[in-house]
Amino acid sequence: MARLYESRKRILVTGGAGFLGSHLIDRLIAEGHEVLCVDNLFTGTKRNIDHLHQHPRFDFMRHDICFPLYVEVDEIYNLACPASPIHYQHDPVQTTKTSVLGAINMLGLAKRLKVPVLQASTSEVYGDPTVHPQTEDYWGNVNPIGPRSCYDEGKRCAETLFFDYHREHGIQIKIARIFNTYGPRMHPNDGRVVTNFIGQALRNEPITLFGDGNQTRSFCFVDDLVSGLIALMNSDYTVKGPINLGNPDEFTMRELASRIIEISGSCSTFTKRPLPIDDPRQRRPDITAAEQMLGWAPKIPLNEGLIPTISYMRETLGVTAEQFLAEA
Ligand code: NAD
Ligand code: UDP
Ligand code: UDP
Repeated sequence: MARLYESRKRILVTGGAGFLGSHLIDRLIAEGHEVLCVDNLFTGTKRNIDHLHQHPRFDFMRHDICFPLYVEVDEIYNLACPASPIHYQHDPVQTTKTSVLGAINMLGLAKRLKVPVLQASTSEVYGDPTVHPQTEDYWGNVNPIGPRSCYDEGKRCAETLFFDYHREHGIQIKIARIFNTYGPRMHPNDGRVVTNFIGQALRNEPITLFGDGNQTRSFCFVDDLVSGLIALMNSDYTVKGPINLGNPDEFTMRELASRIIEISGSCSTFTKRPLPIDDPRQRRPDITAAEQMLGWAPKIPLNEGLIPTISYMRETLGVTAEQFLAEA
């Protein structure tokens, strides 16, 4: 898309080589902006941004956001952080550092440049919720010392920092509490439920239901989520608080598995595994605030989003299985 130079922005996306970040960059480039992708490639991969390397409005910098970053940009999307439980529990101290030190550095950058900064927060700030569906004013039910705490408390502390920088320095902040999102470019070995189930279904292996399989999640297709992030960044939404972004359709893990089996034409059966510690029993966003403040709501139902996701996984596992296993 052609865009006049005056309206073209130079946008920093941290974590841009990851699943969500790479889709966000595709959209920003398509809208005519310049994008600087900063990523340490901990869970992301250059393959997700390979198609952009020759693009004149795209730059990549390998950098860990725990360290200061001096660049000149007009907007910051801070997405850098491992998101799947097996990835963020692999090096929990680094996970907390990424959320906390990373937030301080991105806020310091936003303060110096006087530009807006968006934080990719998470529904995990609600922990194992006692309020359902989750509204933004719910303070959460989070274990501060468990295996998920490095992620949950790191993200909670990042939200605190964003609000304190806003109150103390007047920085324009945007906080998206992202609920489970899926789609092409998810890491096939990230251990998250969608990739696990699809991989098992494609190999006709038993689907691993953790616990009784009756716990619930709400799954948002990546294209919808990216629209929500951009709507939040571009909105005049004055800082009232974080905002939930997700798809409110709620499914048990057993229902999710059945749909994946059906769509992929698999002969997989079920097998049970122990429920991980602190695994939330239920999760569904209340997105009234996003609907009213941003005019945003997800459009893509689960079955529709699963089709391209399954195709991506089929291609990825078929074509480059060895490469992915080596990287896992
Ligand atoms: P991802 O693991 O695919 O992407 C994260 C990216 O951040 C990777 O490319 C990784 O290499 C990079 N990264 C990690 N630590 C870094 C560091 N210290 N410095 C620079 N780069 C670093 O995960 P994702 O699913 O794309 O998630 C992106 C963001 O959205 C994360 O902040 C995550 O917490 C948040 N989020 C995602 C979901 C979801 O369902 N996908 C849900 C809630 C929140
Ligand atoms: N920072 C950065 N890039 C900048 C400006 C600041 O990475 O362009 C980092 C800086 O290294 C500091 C952090 O952001 O550690 C917080 O900055 P702030 O100005 O709030 O803190 P101070 O420099 O006063 O400690
Ligand atoms: N889950 C499962 N089988 C798997 C992987 C996950 O039943 O092979 C369950 C897990 O216990 C959780 C839900 O699926 O209740 C979502 O897990 P995921 O790791 O994708 O995300 P999160 O727990 O962070 O929402």
